[in-house]
Amino acid sequence: MTTDVLIIGGGVIGLSIARELAFDHSVCVVERGRCGRQASSAAAGMLGAQAEAYGDDAFFRLCIGSREMFPALAASLLEETDIDVGLDNAGTLLLSFTEADIAERRERFAWQMAAGFEIEQLSATDIRRAEPFVSTDVLGGFYLPKDGQIDNRKLVEALQRSCEVRGVKFVENTRIDKLTVENGKVTGAFADDSKFSADKVVLAAGAWGTAIDAGVELPFVIKPMRGQILQFRTAKRLFEHVIVGPRGYIVPRSDGRVLAGATMDDAGFDETITNEATAHLIESTTEISPSLGSQKPQDAWTGFRPFAPDRLPVLGRTPNAENLLLALGAFRNGILLSPVTAKLIADDIRGVAPSPEEFSPVRFFRRLVNGSVQR
Ligand SMILES: Cc1cc2nc3c(=O)[nH]c(=O)nc-3n(C[C@H](O)[C@H](O)[C@H](O)COP(=O)(O)OP(=O)(O)OC[C@H]3O[C@@H](n4cnc5c(N)ncnc54)[C@H](O)[C@@H]3O)c2cc1C
Repeated sequence: MTTDVLIIGGGVIGLSIARELAFDHSVCVVERGRCGRQASSAAAGMLGAQAEAYGDDAFFRLCIGSREMFPALAASLLEETDIDVGLDNAGTLLLSFTEADIAERRERFAWQMAAGFEIEQLSATDIRRAEPFVSTDVLGGFYLPKDGQIDNRKLVEALQRSCEVRGVKFVENTRIDKLTVENGKVTGAFADDSKFSADKVVLAAGAWGTAIDAGVELPFVIKPMRGQILQFRTAKRLFEHVIVGPRGYIVPRSDGRVLAGATMDDAGFDETITNEATAHLIESTTEISPSLGSQKPQDAWTGFRPFAPDRLPVLGRTPNAENLLLALGAFRNGILLSPVTAKLIADDIRGVAPSPEEFSPVRFFRRLVNGSVQR
């Protein structure tokens, strides 16, 4: 099959890019299993641009820019697909249980306040008024009104439906094993008994991104960072906000489900839900809300965050194959970063602008010392 653009991997990143490019390109997405069933379904769907930030850098600005794209994206997906992706703008509460934690967070967020990003310090009374089921041990916290959440499973479903409406071809249950590169260009992508060719090839295979033989050396490895997460279900909705405690978070969905996450395990592609993780997640949930933590979790799952050596996304062209673009390494923020990633990759393919240098794969090639990767 030949198209303008071939996208390898149908997670939130691959689907978002496919949807964006489908306006003016023929696009084919090849997915090893079913689209959107890996990290993109496992995620909690927090749009935590400010909560996750430690400094005013290019990554922070990327996250903020992407967060701002969600209202228009959700509206356009609803119009095209009738799927409500559950964009919830109630915001995020960060809880502190010690004075030291309050002081640390005040210092950590000082630059955001100075730069004019919305953030509000709250007393324990404010917090318990907003969220009556939060622990009475809470001492105070912070409110980030713009850090909302989205139902990521609905998001991937809507993205795929929208792609179909826009004419994207999907080939599911097909694993690309290798690419062939001739004269600095990818000439084919091979699955068991099929060959796919395209003018541009986008590798968006998440945590498996560098497990595929790319036909050229990619001087870095994307590692899977396993996350384990629990799901509770309450008869009625108990919480309004995403709530982040010192050791975990809870994300309430509108239908009474509450996700409680998440671990960060360097355990390869092992899908096991461990007893230790379950115990830890129940403990961190109980710390936030004893009423929730005392309930029995109704479900649990794992997912693999795509982790690049410097923790940053890897976006844009590789220097050794001119038509190969990477959209990897979204790590903890791939749901949040999906709209901006789609825009950056589409801009690059359309020749509008190359992906920003900070996130370009070129940075890993520069670190090559004497032919080996400096780690
Ligand atoms: C527990 C947990 C909680 C998280 N919470 C959040 C959150 O609150 N907010 C947030 O923004 N992010 C969150 N994340 C991170 C987010 O889920 C990821 O960054 C994002 O889903 C990555 O998307 P992706 O499309 O790159 O990867 P994936 O969703 O994993 O998609 C990659 C796809 O490529 C396919 N593939 C792999 N190899 C091949 C091949 N050889 N051929 C064809 N297809 C292939 C896979 O089957 C898969 O469908 C969380 C992650 C986890 C695990």
